[in-house]
Amino acid sequence: MFEFSSIEQYHSGLKEGTVTCLQTVERYLQRIHAKQHLNAFVEVYAEDALQKAKELDRNRASGKSTGRLHGVIIGLKDVIAYKDHRLTASSNILKGFTSVYSATAVERLLAEEAIIIGNCNCDEFAMGSTNENSAYGKVLNAADETRVPGGSSGGSAVAVQAGLCMVSLGSDTGGSVRQPADFCGIIGLKPTYGRISRYGLIAYASSFDQIGIFGNAVADVAKVLEVISGYDEYDSTVSSKPVESYSSLDPKNKKYRIAYFNEALEHRGNDPEIGSSIKNLLEKLKDDGHAVVPVEFDLLDYIVPAYYVLTTAEASSNLSRYDGVKYGHRTTVRGIDLTEFYKRTRSEGFGQEVKRRIMLGTFVLSAGFYDAYFTRAQKVRNLLTKKIELIFKDFDVIILPTSPDTAFKTGEKTTDPIAMYLADIYTVMANLVGIPAISLPLFTHSNGMPFGLQVMAKRFNELPLLRLSNELMQGYRTQPLN
Ligand code: GLN
Repeated sequence: MFEFSSIEQYHSGLKEGTVTCLQTVERYLQRIHAKQHLNAFVEVYAEDALQKAKELDRNRASGKSTGRLHGVIIGLKDVIAYKDHRLTASSNILKGFTSVYSATAVERLLAEEAIIIGNCNCDEFAMGSTNENSAYGKVLNAADETRVPGGSSGGSAVAVQAGLCMVSLGSDTGGSVRQPADFCGIIGLKPTYGRISRYGLIAYASSFDQIGIFGNAVADVAKVLEVISGYDEYDSTVSSKPVESYSSLDPKNKKYRIAYFNEALEHRGNDPEIGSSIKNLLEKLKDDGHAVVPVEFDLLDYIVPAYYVLTTAEASSNLSRYDGVKYGHRTTVRGIDLTEFYKRTRSEGFGQEVKRRIMLGTFVLSAGFYDAYFTRAQKVRNLLTKKIELIFKDFDVIILPTSPDTAFKTGEKTTDPIAMYLADIYTVMANLVGIPAISLPLFTHSNGMPFGLQVMAKRFNELPLLRLSNELMQGYRTQPLN
């Protein structure tokens, strides 16, 4: 029976006739059914997927050219628009909403003959680190069901982890692809800001948001990136830089200049095993001829506050559109004035964490506090960007942990938002600066859980980032993939 290991191997199977798209979709649907309790999907498009698979099998048999993602089974986070399908940001305020258009990334997947199998559970409006803030309930980590999968793209991560799709899309505003990848033992890539169009991605914080990719193999993630990247007239922030051939992962054996921060590896908030495992890996890389150098970094304690000031400010503005007038949830209370109508609608529709962030963002933007919070946070963002640019003058990549902890126990951090926010310490940096970053599942903790290594590169340096990632996955893993 066919077991998926990479898109390339799947495509050879299709070519040789040892497997068909239809058999594969049926297999995945069975598995989704068997793993329903993980709650990874909000909705499964079983009929659509079966139809599409039959059509692809027919086309292949009649010799019609095949797309780069022919028959590849993909899950979408519930913040990415797919025409005529549900789109709710896992929020009650969008309950029942159907998208009237597709995100550019989705159009490009479909044009290359991918099969979209369903939309995946997430934290409401992509706000969270555990997937516990979802109107559809929590998602379970398939490596240990008493633990969270991470967030906010927890459903997309578990869908890949548990073999419910081949690759999936998430969104990453402050780590929402990399951190769940870390918690679930898979690969999670956040590309450069502006590499992938945000058209059709529900906005959380627009100057941070970027669609990201989950997979089990670097080559798969690279292939999907190659398909969905590039200029789009519907997003003025997307770059017109040509899309490189990201899946050309050779040549190997290049020597890299690698920077790391002792301040991060020895940080008081870390699980010490994470820092020591990364240090051992850095030693190995050094022995293998790479230049591995510690760089002083004194901004760590400022980046989480700056991130939460700036993203909540942007969110308070972005989420003002959900007012019950044009679409989405509307209060049924009658005989009230417009202000009361907005209040009721929004109070009923949004969950607690989203309300907290809207209030925080409104506060930091208010006349009396703007300079004290928003302007200062912007200064931190500038300072950080300059510092990182300087580092990249001398280095190809920066290595960091992805998260200071392995997957939390369900409920462990839900009552303490500050503790939850502080755990974003290593991921928010890439979004503040707009650089690409990846989490690679290289390690297993003595508690049995996987954890990742984060590698960051210069803006638009996805190709060297993916090449090094491929080497790391092939030669430096201390555990087999799930
Ligand atoms: N955990 C972060 C937050 O809660 C990241 C969110 C994201 O990347 N969408 O904001």
